[in-house]
Amino acid sequence: MDCDFTKPPRSAEPARRRKTCPVRVGSVVVGGDAPIVVQSMTNTDTADVGKTAAQVIALARAGSEMVRVTVDRPEAAAAVPHIKEAILKQGVNAALIGDFHYVGHQLLSDYPECAEALDKYRINPGNVGFKDKKDRQFAAIIEIALKYGKPVRIGGNWGSLDQELAARLMDENSRAAQPWSAREIVREALVRSVLGSAELAEKLGLGTDRIVLSAKVSAVQDLIAVYRDLAERSGYALHLGLTEAGMGSKGIVASSAALAVLLQEGIGDTIRFSLTPAPGGDRTLEVKTARELLQTMGFRTFAPEVAACPGCGRTTSTVFQELARDVQNWITASMPEWKQRYPGVEHMRVAVMGCIVNGPGESKHADIGISLPGTGETPTAPVFIDGRKVATLRGTALAPEFQKLVLDYIEKRFG
Ligand code: SF4
Repeated sequence: MDCDFTKPPRSAEPARRRKTCPVRVGSVVVGGDAPIVVQSMTNTDTADVGKTAAQVIALARAGSEMVRVTVDRPEAAAAVPHIKEAILKQGVNAALIGDFHYVGHQLLSDYPECAEALDKYRINPGNVGFKDKKDRQFAAIIEIALKYGKPVRIGGNWGSLDQELAARLMDENSRAAQPWSAREIVREALVRSVLGSAELAEKLGLGTDRIVLSAKVSAVQDLIAVYRDLAERSGYALHLGLTEAGMGSKGIVASSAALAVLLQEGIGDTIRFSLTPAPGGDRTLEVKTARELLQTMGFRTFAPEVAACPGCGRTTSTVFQELARDVQNWITASMPEWKQRYPGVEHMRVAVMGCIVNGPGESKHADIGISLPGTGETPTAPVFIDGRKVATLRGTALAPEFQKLVLDYIEKRFG
């Protein structure tokens, strides 16, 4: 079939970011035209200053621009200013966010240094307080935010939904001619809960430019539906995240699926991957994954991309996997230094390919690429730079020789 070149080509760009009100959170801006921000949360006891500061630093160095810590009791609130001091001493200026439930109003008022040190407060309308205390305690937190000039994330969660609101909607729904399903009602309750709380916060004097919203659920399709609603019904900056995403590949796939759909529609100003680490596992995985999603989808560029084929029956030795792994690890480890020395290096594309079938072609598309010999091929590895073959490597020193060529290329192009 012939191509119809009179028609414009199909776009391969994400939808334009939905315009939201920008919110300054410490060193970063969330919303407006600002890049989509990566955030994460510690899982240490916040009262333990040393451990929590170390984890905040690790998360920030992995690329988290905002880090949330739980502030659940007086000892945690007392620790917050010391954590802030410790991270600043290490040159880390990631925004520090306090996560408050039930007693937030009390802790923020009893520990003014905590209220001052935090860059944002996260509160959950379902957990601020109950019955007549709810609005009073919510107002107390907003007043403190106003006093210290801090933004607030009003973050609803499926697991801690405002029960009074949900019960009222269920009741109204039961009398409707065409009642919604219970699941639809719960989603609506979540959306109304955060929008209602935001409206109340504005009435109390908190500007739109101090409010971030989130409404997290644990099922992918529900999350997409909830955020489409939130985006349609408000102009607040939105924090995206699939709550309780789970462990390992399940958590990564579920979060990526939900967030990718929303980001592609232009929804979302900051993201978090709520991954459950394995016991003793690496907490920074959630940051790396969030960054990879943003880079893969073309929203941000953090580090050079390494394209590697999956390998197949044509790569029976481990040379190819080892080279792909070593190049990836080397680039990741070098980035902190390269970022300073070679501005723009994050846009570089490297290819490490397994055999002649797609190897030379993919390597030519990359800025620099190597095509290893597959089983039965001549044991040589051509290297391509900007589409031209520049060298042929062979023997056991392939990895260091290829790395040297990559470094020379970086020096010439970005040095
Ligand atoms: S490039 Fe070669 S080794 Fe890699 S997947 Fe394709 S055929 Fe297999």
